[in-house]
Amino acid sequence: MRALITGSQGFVGRHLVAHLRESGDEVDGIDRERDVTDAKSMREVFQAFRPDVTYHLAALTHVGESWDHASEFTRVNVVGTQYVLDAAFEAVPTSTTLIVSSSEIYGVVREEDLPIRENFRAAPANPYSSSKVEAERVAHDVARRRGQRVLIVRPFNHLGPGQALNFVVPALVSRLLEARERGESEIPVGDLSTRRDFSDVRDVVRAYRLLASKVPYPLHLGVTEAGTVFAGSIKSAVGIGTLLAEGIGDTIRVSLSADPVEEPKTAFEILKALGLRERGPVMIACPSCGRDNVGVHTLAEQVETRLAEYPQAFEVAVLGCAVNGPGESGDADFGIAGGRDVGFIYAHGRVLKKVSSDILIDELFFEIDSWIAGGMHRPKRLKMAKPAALAMAEASAIPLK
Ligand code: SF4
Repeated sequence: MRALITGSQGFVGRHLVAHLRESGDEVDGIDRERDVTDAKSMREVFQAFRPDVTYHLAALTHVGESWDHASEFTRVNVVGTQYVLDAAFEAVPTSTTLIVSSSEIYGVVREEDLPIRENFRAAPANPYSSSKVEAERVAHDVARRRGQRVLIVRPFNHLGPGQALNFVVPALVSRLLEARERGESEIPVGDLSTRRDFSDVRDVVRAYRLLASKVPYPLHLGVTEAGTVFAGSIKSAVGIGTLLAEGIGDTIRVSLSADPVEEPKTAFEILKALGLRERGPVMIACPSCGRDNVGVHTLAEQVETRLAEYPQAFEVAVLGCAVNGPGESGDADFGIAGGRDVGFIYAHGRVLKKVSSDILIDELFFEIDSWIAGGMHRPKRLKMAKPAALAMAEASAIPLK
């Protein structure tokens, strides 16, 4: 596992680096030498290392200081999270990013509400916790919008070796040690009735790694605001299809500015084109050329409209002429080759019959219906297609039906 840690030199970061290395991960880390609010810098880091997992720890965390530097907390904690997520997705779309939020987002919790659960309402009570709520929203947005794998954790207080002296427990311990040096046995403190749960930082980093490696998230693919049926379908096919072809993605959603029924139709066409789903027939049609003397696009539209009624999975080829019919329809279950006066119908790689052009489509569907009624049996194919000229010569000799 290639793991990148932002804030790797901080209190938690140092423990996480050690734990991941002990666990056999390949680890890289960035800290203050890289500004998480610099999008270009983040892209460079992620493109260079291409992590499978990112642990985003880099943040301003001191609650007290957040009151005087609220905008800086927003910049680092919110904008920084956005740029880290963007860079992680651009580098490795299937990677997982663990976002470290905070239990501070729950604000002041009443005794009767304990123990709180993760769906407890957020009530940030200071600029630090507000920035963490916003950072979570950024993470939710990218997960929803582009299916990015994101985990959000809200750790409670933790302590352990190496924590800065401006945090409560190290501060108290430090003052106790100083008092002892001075020969004193007491230190002045504030309200001692406050109760807090503390986790050992070494347990916390173990939990982070377990979560990042074990939580299975489906990767959802989609191109938002893709456009009209024509342009949007192309964009979706390119965007979604490219990732699917590489084995990336678990679910897809096509979004078009059109009648909503067009969206699943386009989605299934993408899946069918990649051979990932069978649903209804697949039609292929030749691109037409100077030999097309029937208007293959009109023929194809008529066939496509009638095929839309069929739930069965089979393939039909529509060709503009009989010259390349045997070859181009060779792999389809059925095919037709149009002509000015007569056309040919192919079935499973062989010429089936020659018919008058005005009944070509009706005859094709008669054959398809008969085949479906007979159980959709696919006969064994010839190992090699016959040369086109030979097939043509044979086809011309077929009597017109
Ligand atoms: S099937 Fe005929 S009309 Fe269609 S592209 Fe091939 S040669 Fe041209």
